[in-house]
Amino acid sequence: MEIHFLGSGGGRWVTLTQRLRTGGIRLHAEAKVHVDPGPGAVLSMAQADINALDTDAVFVTHSHPDHYTDSHVVIEGMTRGMRTKRGVFAGSRSVILGEGDAGPVVTRYHLHKVGESHVLSPGSTVSTLSFRVRALPARHSDPTTVGLSFEFEDGVVAYTSDTEYFQGMSQSYEEARVLILNVIRPSGRRIPWHLCTKDVIKILEEVKPELAILNHFGMNMIGVAGKEAQKVQNATGVRTIAASDFMRVVMNESIEVEAGEVR
Ligand SMILES: [Zn+2]
Repeated sequence: MEIHFLGSGGGRWVTLTQRLRTGGIRLHAEAKVHVDPGPGAVLSMAQADINALDTDAVFVTHSHPDHYTDSHVVIEGMTRGMRTKRGVFAGSRSVILGEGDAGPVVTRYHLHKVGESHVLSPGSTVSTLSFRVRALPARHSDPTTVGLSFEFEDGVVAYTSDTEYFQGMSQSYEEARVLILNVIRPSGRRIPWHLCTKDVIKILEEVKPELAILNHFGMNMIGVAGKEAQKVQNATGVRTIAASDFMRVVMNESIEVEAGEVR
C-alpha cells in the first residue's frame, strides 16, 4: 500500500499562510482513503495526479478546519459528482452530529449521498470495503477527536490526529508498522492539546513501529522538522522521518520513502 502526504502542515498559522500544505493524507491500498482533507486537499490532489473520483472513503478526525474543510469536495468526487450513492464517510461525533459548539461540519446533503456513514468514538471499529479501522483515544480541544488505526493487508498504519500526550496512549499504536504523529512544536516547547518532539520520544520509548513519521507542523517546525526527526531517532532507535508535502511512503515487505518538497 502507499501513503501520500497532501500536506505536512497544521495549526492556524501554517494553514492561513500555506507555508506548508494542509490537504491531509491519502492511504491507497485495496481501497483509497482520504484522511483529514484540510484546505487545499483538492488542489494538491490535482497537482499530485490523484483523481478525486478515485476515493472510496473519507475520514475526518475532528471538527477543526485544518482537518475538514475540503471534505465536501472530496465526497463529491467519491460520489462521482453526487450522481452515485457510494463510499464511506466516517468522522468524530463533532464532525457528524455536533457536540457543544463544535460542528457538525458535514452537511446532511452530502451525508445522504454516501453509501455508509459512521460516527467514530474511541474504541469503536468499522469494518468496511477491504479494511478494518479502529478509532483511538485522543486528548484535544475538540473533546470528541479520535486517532485512527487502519488494518490493511500490508500492515497497520496508525495516526494520532491532534492530541496531547497522556498516560497509556502508546498502547493504541502497538500494532502499527507505520505511525504518523501530529507534532506541532519542536523540542519541549509544548502547547496545550498538541504533541511536541519530547512527547514523541516518550511514545516511541513505549512502542516501536518500523517507521515513525512526524507530521502536521506548525510555524516553529518549519525548517527544523528534519532535525527534530533525527533527534527522535537518535533517542529511541526508531526509524523516524519528517513528512513533507507530496512525500510518498510505500509499504509492502519493506517500507520505502520517496521524499516530497522540503521547505
Ligand atoms: Zn485540531
